[in-house]
Amino acid sequence: MPNADKTTKKIVVLGGGIGGMNVLRKLKDLKNISATLIDPHLFHICKPALHEVAAGSLAPKDNGFPFTELARKFNFNFIQAKSQSIDTNTRTIQLSTGDVIDYDWLVIACGAVPNVFHIEGVEEHAYFLNNTADADDIYKKVQIGVRAASQQKRSFKVAVIGGGPTGVQLTAELYKTFAKRHSPSIDVSIVEGAPKLLPSFAENIGLNAAKRLAQLPVNVCLNAQVSKATPEGIFLKDETFIPADMVIWTAGVKANTSLKVLLPDFEFARNGALVVRNTLQTTKDPRILAVGDCAFIADKPLPPTAQVARKEGIYVQQTALPALLEGKTPESFVYQDQGSIVVLAQYAGWAELPSGKTYGGKGLGNCFAHFLHNCLFIRQQYELGGLSFVVKKFLKKKLS
Ligand SMILES: Cc1cc2nc3c(=O)[nH]c(=O)nc-3n(C[C@H](O)[C@H](O)[C@H](O)COP(=O)(O)OP(=O)(O)OC[C@H]3O[C@@H](n4cnc5c(N)ncnc54)[C@H](O)[C@@H]3O)c2cc1C
Repeated sequence: MPNADKTTKKIVVLGGGIGGMNVLRKLKDLKNISATLIDPHLFHICKPALHEVAAGSLAPKDNGFPFTELARKFNFNFIQAKSQSIDTNTRTIQLSTGDVIDYDWLVIACGAVPNVFHIEGVEEHAYFLNNTADADDIYKKVQIGVRAASQQKRSFKVAVIGGGPTGVQLTAELYKTFAKRHSPSIDVSIVEGAPKLLPSFAENIGLNAAKRLAQLPVNVCLNAQVSKATPEGIFLKDETFIPADMVIWTAGVKANTSLKVLLPDFEFARNGALVVRNTLQTTKDPRILAVGDCAFIADKPLPPTAQVARKEGIYVQQTALPALLEGKTPESFVYQDQGSIVVLAQYAGWAELPSGKTYGGKGLGNCFAHFLHNCLFIRQQYELGGLSFVVKKFLKKKLS
């Protein structure tokens, strides 16, 4: 563990997700600093693979890195705790463990939580997919539900609300795992308020994804705005009722709600994210930076994606902190989009390049999208675990 003396600058990172870990990964390259991660969980997880954990296609342990191991490898301190308050005058953080720790620079990377937009019954009756425990709950509920329903010679009905990448990918994975093993088994509906699936992707990808899901068959409901969730299913605004044994909400996120408690005087965007300048420093206090889903760049808002969180984390580590430590103004963060990928289990996949060109659906384009998707997961594992970790995982998978 790094020791701090008077010349050592203390960098504290709140949240070890994609943004936070990309800040911490190479901080050891900076001189005279000590770095500390505070996170209430014991494991770093790759959220974009959670739908595979929820469907049982990926074991939770294969999607998590213990923070204690990462701390040893990348030379930072790890404290498992919740932060209860931040005093920006004394630059101290009060933790749930009773400890008070001080910082010279604080990076907030607490991520996002589901946003249910005050829709009646969703909080009480829906399942969410935001962490490993959520994914585990979904898997258990579907597994038990499918078994019980098939004994009654009926299908277990699941309604996934939200036709963005999380909802679409989860729907396909659930179908892949549960549909073929028991017959009748699972009956999945995907419910999207917009006229097409994957509204943030190119038109043809949304249309083709809906077509491919309908062929499985999945019940694709478009222009379907949910007004209420009950234990028996969901009501739409036009009063249609979609019966469901289980409702899963993937239709929106907002920045971690604890931020408003921690920093009540700070400037927040409508989605609850901290408003930051182009250097990712908060508008209220230049010693506090924010990255990922809980940061909102006032000049150029970016979507809450893994790609954005990763790039912001790398920028803070490589550009912002080195300049700030030398008393200089950092160069602005410039985001270059590298495109997007969506994969419907083994059934289909699409890649959209920054130029707007799209590949996928079938043939070589489909293989290309799956290949890129796998590369991104392997890159994340390589960056945190190293080459030997990736090779070990690969061999274990091949030999099992
Ligand atoms: C199911 C799912 C699928 C997704 N699929 C994709 C995809 O295919 N492509 C894509 O680009 N993006 C995807 N995303 C979005 C992407 O995962 C996020 O944009 C990205 O993880 C944001 O990174 P982050 O570092 O801001 O937050 P996170 O990765 O969420 O990390 C937040 C960290 O903060 C910790 N934390 C929480 N509260 C506190 C606190 N009070 N104090 C300290 N630490 C705290 C958490 O334990 C966690 O470790 C998906 C998200 C989900 C949930």
